[in-house]
Amino acid sequence: MSIFGGVITNTVYILFPLTVYIIYTAYIRNLEQKEKKLFLELALYSSLYMLIRYGVMFKTVYPALLFNIPLVISLMKDQKLSSILISIILIAFNYYKFHFSLILLIIEYLAYFTAYLVFYNKKNRNIAIINSFIIIRTITIIHQTIFYIMPESPFLEMLYYILFSSLLFSFLSYIIIMILDKSENIINYNSTLNELNREKEIRESLFKITHEVKNPLAVCRGYLDMLENQQKKEYKKYVPIISNEINRTLNLMDDFLDYTKIKIVKEETDLYLLLDEMKEEIKPLLKNNNIESKFNIPDDELYMEVDYNRIKQVLVNVFKNSIEAKKDKMKISLDVYQKNNQVTIKISDTGIGMNKETLKRIGENFFTTKRNGTGLGVSLSKEIIHLHSGKMYYKSAEGKGTDVYIELPIN
Ligand code: ADP
Ligand code: MG
Repeated sequence: MSIFGGVITNTVYILFPLTVYIIYTAYIRNLEQKEKKLFLELALYSSLYMLIRYGVMFKTVYPALLFNIPLVISLMKDQKLSSILISIILIAFNYYKFHFSLILLIIEYLAYFTAYLVFYNKKNRNIAIINSFIIIRTITIIHQTIFYIMPESPFLEMLYYILFSSLLFSFLSYIIIMILDKSENIINYNSTLNELNREKEIRESLFKITHEVKNPLAVCRGYLDMLENQQKKEYKKYVPIISNEINRTLNLMDDFLDYTKIKIVKEETDLYLLLDEMKEEIKPLLKNNNIESKFNIPDDELYMEVDYNRIKQVLVNVFKNSIEAKKDKMKISLDVYQKNNQVTIKISDTGIGMNKETLKRIGENFFTTKRNGTGLGVSLSKEIIHLHSGKMYYKSAEGKGTDVYIELPIN
């Protein structure tokens, strides 16, 4: 097999488990954050296993360069523990397979981890992480080439080897990570759309329920009309029918109430990361609607016990309402304030705003001013925030815009 054949085979070994992961997480719409991480880890270990077990290697180590890519991905996804484990596996592998110096290998992998910690909170940190990987890798390749791989070779041959290896590693890292990133973005965008479609589903099921409730009631009214002109003995015949129909309606209402009960599953979540992810998902929608947006999310982390999916649902609901309140030259901004044991998320739009009557009634079940509205978005959101022991309220001026405040306790 040629070097390129080897590189392609190894690339497939890396991408195959990751592709399965991406398709799986896309297919199961509401996967919890924890499960998602678990599946990603599974994919990374599978990649690593396939590379070590079946990966193509030559005396020269070109294709083996790719073995570091699962580590880059796991660092980029903040899987700290996995990163350490993968590093240990890679150090052992390099040591036994190529007999590189153990101390230098440990220094190399410590350097990757240090670079990750240094760029942890930086903007564009993924690019920074890849770049530092490339730099550290290049330094290592120079050292390994001179002392281990081709110590006897002429200088030019070494130079050629070093340049070729570093370029190959850089190029393939960028490509693989770009593919992963792009496909994840597309999936996230689609899941946001799904969220919005869910509201449409609720609307449709409401129509169905109204229909189901109206039918038995109409039957009851028909019998009651008939009763008016009947003898007493006829009552015996009609009353059970009416009572039956009413029971059916009540049962249906009970079922519906069960169905609409909200469940909250809280887990340790980085709120700022959640906001960042929500931002990426909502951005294409804002762009499609020609809305200018500004997200001021701190470059930091804030761990809280919340239901990741539900909080995101609230934010999507709020943004959707703002988008629907659109007028010319519209702006939406998100700000976060942290004070004592409370964090406030403020979402402001310069849309059509609300009058006093609307502002007073907002949050009532089924209250809507839209022709196709459900009037469930705000009430559902308020309930979710309430279940998190938080508060959600609106300030608005007609014709000027609306501010939504979401306050959540940090502990
Ligand atoms: P729906 O969006 O289906 O109407 P919601 O519960 O989401 O139901 O919203 C209820 C009502 O609150 C909307 O019909 C609208 O009148 C008002 N509203 C909510 N958010 C905004 C906003 N950002 N700007 C103007 N009006 C809003
Ligand atoms: Mg709405």
